[in-house]
Amino acid sequence: MASSQRSQILAALASVFGDSASHLGSAEHENEVKHAFVARPKNVEQVQGLVRALRPLVLSGDCKLAIRNSGNRGDYFPGSASANVQEEVTIDTRRIKGIKLSDDQSAVEIGAGERWSPVYAKLREYGLVVAGSPDGDAGVAGFLLSGGLSILSGKTGFACDSVVEFQVVLASGEVVRANAEEHADLWRSLKGGLNNFGIVTSFKMKVFKSRRIWGGTAYYSPEAFMELVHWACVFAEDDSDEHANISCCIDYRFGEKEAWCEMYHTRGRAYPPSLMPFMETQPQIEEDCTVQISTQLKLSNDWSNAIKFESTNPRHLSASITIKGCMVSVLEDVYEEWENTLEELKHIIGFSFTLGFMPLTKSMLKNSAEAGGNAMAIPPSDGPLFLAVVDTVWPKPKYDNLVFEEIENLMAACRRLVGGKGHLHRFIHASYAHHEDDVIAGYGRESVSRLRETSKRYDPEGVFQKGTPGGFKLLHHYPVLP
Ligand SMILES: Cc1cc2nc3c(=O)[nH]c(=O)nc-3n(C[C@H](O)[C@H](O)[C@H](O)COP(=O)(O)OP(=O)(O)OC[C@H]3O[C@@H](n4cnc5c(N)ncnc54)[C@H](O)[C@@H]3O)c2cc1C
Repeated sequence: MASSQRSQILAALASVFGDSASHLGSAEHENEVKHAFVARPKNVEQVQGLVRALRPLVLSGDCKLAIRNSGNRGDYFPGSASANVQEEVTIDTRRIKGIKLSDDQSAVEIGAGERWSPVYAKLREYGLVVAGSPDGDAGVAGFLLSGGLSILSGKTGFACDSVVEFQVVLASGEVVRANAEEHADLWRSLKGGLNNFGIVTSFKMKVFKSRRIWGGTAYYSPEAFMELVHWACVFAEDDSDEHANISCCIDYRFGEKEAWCEMYHTRGRAYPPSLMPFMETQPQIEEDCTVQISTQLKLSNDWSNAIKFESTNPRHLSASITIKGCMVSVLEDVYEEWENTLEELKHIIGFSFTLGFMPLTKSMLKNSAEAGGNAMAIPPSDGPLFLAVVDTVWPKPKYDNLVFEEIENLMAACRRLVGGKGHLHRFIHASYAHHEDDVIAGYGRESVSRLRETSKRYDPEGVFQKGTPGGFKLLHHYPVLP
């Protein structure tokens, strides 16, 4: 970066942070991506100040921005710079805190920088839950702006569907509250719209009464996996219990395969009929089973501990497709391809590899649509759907190219097989997307055109498009760049 550019940026940062702006350059980086400055606003006024001060530099091409929160989507993913930008300015929203329950206890306003665990802890005092991440360590902002799938999703749709209001700083520096009455187009677009429209500083979400949740993880020998898949298809097809939630997974780790099923009943009903087949599938490793009556807080902390391996390991790659319908044979094709890829990669010491199937039932999609619409715009008639998610962790950069190539081949083979049978759906969930996927195109033509209108209206000069390049961008879907 040229020194004149550097001093212009420093002057802009100093207008918000005073003398401390000169220290803003030293901070952790997202993988190999090294920003020049990181700014850590504590409140909406500082975010406004930053946007106003940096905007002229962004528009003149002298500065690019990144927005990051806990960096969950970026810290572990080599090649992904969704929440950071090389040699430029990262705006880190982690210091924007606050968890405030409304007086009538129907909604909670959460600062963008919170993680889910403290939110669950606060709500537990009132016997309430919210559609947040199953992982208590995950950041609130990125999870909700990606759409988000929570253990309450059967009843409440995507996690973002529970957001009744976003507080957002626009490209002009103006702060608006986007909800169903005011700026409803922006409200809808932000639900799954990622960093395309502004910097979100708080989320007001609906809360639900629930003192107890029944759930956890049951573990099985790998040969039980296809039986779990069969029951997952029955579960999605029956669609008889909106309070039940499952995902069925198989993984390879430390040289061994293991199958597991995460299951929850968010009304706290133990052993509900909808989940009994998963409890009864054999061979099960019963001594490892964690399914119990619990709370959202405890389950999310258990989840964070269980994925510590992923979150502390430096090389991490996810990818997914969405499958239409409940055909066991289609899911089996994906499993066979996953097995083939495993054979190519399992010689890597410290390699771990997971395949998970997560149903999106018709009632989940109906409840999502009834919440006012979102960027994903999946009609309930498209359901039931299954997300097929692969997740890879490996320890050393020297294996990056091999893993990247094998995962790309795997996803291409899955798309070919599933598409060939007419079961490939357009949607790619942003939280589980490969960094080169076109997540925005997966929202469908009509939604993309609405998102474009929203972007033109609230950010006509493209500060959050050309000026903020990381992540899944609407920019590539403009016939002419804004
Ligand atoms: C091990 C692991 C397990 C996971 N499990 C689940 C799961 O069960 N369900 C699920 O749905 N997801 C899951 N995820 C995905 C996770 O929720 C996302 O990665 C999410 O983006 C993390 O949120 P964050 O706040 O850290 O966002 P970041 O990673 O910091 O950012 C993600 C995106 O959001 C943008 N962004 C962040 N903050 C703001 C803001 N304030 N305003 C505007 N844009 C912003 C960034 O620019 C970036 O494009 C998992 C991820 C990992 C690594």
